[in-house]
Amino acid sequence: MKCKVCSEHAVIDVRRHNAGFCQSHFIDHIKAQVVKTIKEFKMFEPEDRLLIAVSGGKDSLAIWDILLDLGYDATGFYLDLGIGGYSTRSKEASVRFADERGAKLIVRSLQQEHGFTVPELSRLTGRVPCSGCGLNKRYEFNRAALEEGFQVLVTGHNLDDEVATLFGNVLHWQTEQLGRQAPMLEERVFGEGGDAKTVLVRKVKPLVRVAERESAAYAVLKGIDYIVEECPMVEGNTQHRYKEAMTMLEEASPGTKAQLYFGFLKKASHRFKEEEADAPVVPCTSCGAPTLQWDDGKLPICSFCKTKTLAERNKLEGKTGAPQGRRRRRR
Ligand code: SF4
Ligand code: ZN
Ligand code: ZN
Repeated sequence: MKCKVCSEHAVIDVRRHNAGFCQSHFIDHIKAQVVKTIKEFKMFEPEDRLLIAVSGGKDSLAIWDILLDLGYDATGFYLDLGIGGYSTRSKEASVRFADERGAKLIVRSLQQEHGFTVPELSRLTGRVPCSGCGLNKRYEFNRAALEEGFQVLVTGHNLDDEVATLFGNVLHWQTEQLGRQAPMLEERVFGEGGDAKTVLVRKVKPLVRVAERESAAYAVLKGIDYIVEECPMVEGNTQHRYKEAMTMLEEASPGTKAQLYFGFLKKASHRFKEEEADAPVVPCTSCGAPTLQWDDGKLPICSFCKTKTLAERNKLEGKTGAPQGRRRRRR
């Protein structure tokens, strides 16, 4: 196959675009996809300070690399989840990349910030690791962006991630989540200001036009030394299974993922926009993060603080949470 731009030997074919690319034109192609996404969804301006959530994997390092190449003020943020050797190696990859590129990286650790790791939290609460992990990441990314003065939080979600999330949201008709599934979520300010004010920073996903295979190829071709191994806790992650299902469809019919995801954004996402929870959003009385005020006479406490309190109580009492095994299939 030849490069669609220069007719030299192609190093990769992108079946959904029915095109092959040589190394340098593939890199240009990926950057062009990112630039197009930033513009189309009005994600940020050149003067904005961007905080990039990095995991040491191909997607987050690829988007950080692209944004640095494009001249943006892009700082990395690595959250150490305490998942044994996997966390050690993913942190090393992030630090190495920052050093090589002369970029700034902020590192925080769950253990140091809150006194637990993801595996401990799972054991103490009885919840699957990915659920506690996701909650912690959302909470810590927002907190770090606010505390360090960043206007925009960038994540490395790619097309495969987004389409798997969409598939899962549709399978379970999670209409509220469908209303919030977008490549750009504008900053949201709740409350009156001062202590009553609580903020969710703007969140953007500039890699949504890039498939997983393409972000891996970009990272390899750019010589980015990313961590290839998967998190050992990914086993049983439903998102993972949805990804596999969508990849099967994509192989049979190239373009399926993009068609489903961008079709949803264009034709259906607006129908779910008004799906807000019935309760008003107020600051958590413990930490100030946004949470819902239900009409049950209880003080509003966010999910993060509830989970943390449960974990601390169980730790003190030497208990573990009720195990949440997978439901046994009836025969
Ligand atoms: Fe966290 Fe689960 Fe991802 Fe591991 S696989 S990093 S536990 S969300
Ligand atoms: Zn070429
Ligand atoms: Zn809280």
